[in-house]
Amino acid sequence: MIKPLRAIQAGRAFALLAAIFVLAFGVAVMRLALDQQRVIEATSRLQEQTVPEIIRFQRLARNLEQLRQEGERVFAVSSHTARQQSMFVVTLVASHPSILEHPAAATLARETEQFLGDVVRQAKLDERRPATRYDEWQRLAKRLGSAVDEVLVEGINLANKDLNVATKAMQLARYKLMLVLLLVGVFLLVFMVLVRRHLIYPLQRINLALSTLSADRPAPEFAASTMLEIQAVENAICEHHALLIQNDASRQVLERLANKDGLTGLMNRRHFMQSAEVELQRAQRYRRPVTVAMADLDFFKKLNDTYGHAAGDAVLRAFADLVQDTLRQSDLVCRYGGEEFAFLFPEIGPAETERLAERLRVRCADMEVALPDGRAVKATVSIGLADASECPIDIAFKQADEALYEAKHLGRNQVVLAGPQCLLPASSPEPDSLTGHLF
Ligand code: GH3
Ligand code: MG
Ligand code: MG
Repeated sequence: MIKPLRAIQAGRAFALLAAIFVLAFGVAVMRLALDQQRVIEATSRLQEQTVPEIIRFQRLARNLEQLRQEGERVFAVSSHTARQQSMFVVTLVASHPSILEHPAAATLARETEQFLGDVVRQAKLDERRPATRYDEWQRLAKRLGSAVDEVLVEGINLANKDLNVATKAMQLARYKLMLVLLLVGVFLLVFMVLVRRHLIYPLQRINLALSTLSADRPAPEFAASTMLEIQAVENAICEHHALLIQNDASRQVLERLANKDGLTGLMNRRHFMQSAEVELQRAQRYRRPVTVAMADLDFFKKLNDTYGHAAGDAVLRAFADLVQDTLRQSDLVCRYGGEEFAFLFPEIGPAETERLAERLRVRCADMEVALPDGRAVKATVSIGLADASECPIDIAFKQADEALYEAKHLGRNQVVLAGPQCLLPASSPEPDSLTGHLF
């Protein structure tokens, strides 16, 4: 079981991350909207208030300039009528609303009107009088010129003020937009890194573990995950692996039980026949010698009747031990049924097998099985052999059975090797109840 110190639910973690992002993104978007609003306000103020204001300033400047020009004309012309005409225009312009609503300009216009009115009146009396007052007029004209410049600058400043507000707000909005884009980029990067580290990599490890999960391999080892869901899957895989090992061990035990004879511990008949078939085919494919045998304990019924069934069992077990002790590792043997045993000897021909079987027969005859009550039981065995190097398995065992029948017939406690022919002769005697097996 993997138990990290701290673990959180992946769903919650990513929901929290998304909530933080949405909050930060929402705040940034709201700030952007406020800047946008400021730009809109500055622009509409420029349109609705400042532009008419600028137009008024321009009109004022034009009127002041006209005052100056008409004043110049008063000094430039020589006829009284022309001076009066200019004076008329001066009076008209000085009373223009654009001048009257601007206090400084109104004062200057009144001053100009009075001065020029004086000059015109004096000129009517004395034609040379205007020339004496021209210096005065020059100073006044200069003030009018300065007033024109100031009014124009004032108008431009008004426009500049609004434009500055709009420009600053737009600049701020641009920086904030860049910040928002940066925020989105960083978030996506962090999100991807977290998803890879805490979800994709663990899932890849899980995938690998699942694809290689087997009872033959050690349990998969997972680095402690920080995500509860991943941990749950990893724990389930570890538990599944433990179960696989348990099942495999049970399967092996069952397989052993299914393949073994319960009393003697030798192979059972079914398993022996499967193994013998494979071994025989291999030997025949490579043209190697192979011999089969059938063995049957003699007068076993009598033994049972005399000493009891338990004594019979003890003799069967002792004989099985003797067989395993006498035969080679590569030889196959099974309890075929009752007190009958079947053998397959790979790599040795009939003559050598006969010697081996003879040794077994002699050792069996010499064997004494001690009973719990202190008595000792003896038993003999009859063995029939057949060369199986060129026979189908059922025929080979049938021949061995025939040889066993022959051994019984000849007086028991002996080894008989079947003749070299593969096929049984048509006149071969029917197996009796003792040795009759169906292969
Ligand atoms: P033969 O020499 O002709 O083989 O005579 P036999 O008495 O050995 O042969 P028979 O077929 O007449 O008897 C075999 C006996 O083996 C009968 C049966 O009670 C006994 N037997 C079979 N299986 C077992 C077993 O698992 N335990 C014991 N104790 N006896 C068994
Ligand atoms: Mg018998
Ligand atoms: Mg028998």
